[in-house]
Amino acid sequence: MGIKILSHAKINLTLEILYRRSDSFHQLETVMQELKLADTLYLEEVPGGKIALTCDHPLVPADGSNLACRAAACFQSRYAPGKGVKIFLKKKIPVAAGLGGGSSNAAAVLKGLQILWDIPLKEEALEEMAAHLGSDVSFFLYGGTALATGRGELVRPLPPFPSVKVLLVSPANLMLSTARVYGAHVPDKLSKERTKEFVRILENEKEVNLLQLLDLLTNDLEKAAFSLEKDIFLLKKQLQSYGFTVLLSGSGPTVFALSPEEERLERACKELSGRGYNAILTETKGGQKKDLFS
Ligand code: ATP
Repeated sequence: MGIKILSHAKINLTLEILYRRSDSFHQLETVMQELKLADTLYLEEVPGGKIALTCDHPLVPADGSNLACRAAACFQSRYAPGKGVKIFLKKKIPVAAGLGGGSSNAAAVLKGLQILWDIPLKEEALEEMAAHLGSDVSFFLYGGTALATGRGELVRPLPPFPSVKVLLVSPANLMLSTARVYGAHVPDKLSKERTKEFVRILENEKEVNLLQLLDLLTNDLEKAAFSLEKDIFLLKKQLQSYGFTVLLSGSGPTVFALSPEEERLERACKELSGRGYNAILTETKGGQKKDLFS
């Protein structure tokens, strides 16, 4: 018996770095948003406790370092000794792009193995494994719109951000390591209140106004990413010149453009693809804990 699971991408609508902690992680406040853009994972049970993976993307490791394999190994060692799985990973989410692909794959495997191996787990057990596997994995257990704090592993689901098209763009063949971007980040003393205000609006206002939320988008890692790769800065300016709200996602290099005007986003997507950029038009996705297959 095998199962097929979708594993969605994310963007960060806000990302504020509060301070650097004594364990060298950064203390964050970030509103994360799940997207419809998704990888597909096929899981098939195999005998003998073996965990194997094949992937159609040449830059994704197909050994035990792959986050999907690490998630399966973590589940197996804690709750399923002797169980084995063969994973086929079909990538659509750009790799090392700030879109959370690897973390999303890990969360999808944790959720999927409960079904494949018929071992339903409590929420806390899934959350413990997710936090162990990486800072962004916990968000993908929930999806939708959520506030993530701590190093990103403490997740509070939020009422949904208004449904909107999202244009993702990055300069072709540019990958940026998360560690490099955090390393280039220079802390500032600006007040970190945008995420709080964003959350306040989503949680308290009866009718959420998209433009009001777009005014609050922020990412403290932008300066660092721009200083490392000027092309990302130029790309942001280019997209802003079309009249869109534009922000770096996570540690980049992807920038995303949001606009209520779908046709203009579609036109920009075509034009930028034609000029050699990686451009993908997708949209926001509402979340649901058990929502594995949509
Ligand atoms: P992060 O910000 O969490 O580092 P990202 O979203 O920018 O991640 P990913 O697509 O997750 O980027 O890839 C980060 C690195 O992780 C890649 O260089 C890749 O080699 C490695 N990796 C391990 N497992 C996976 C996976 N299942 N999918 C994609 N990349 C993976």
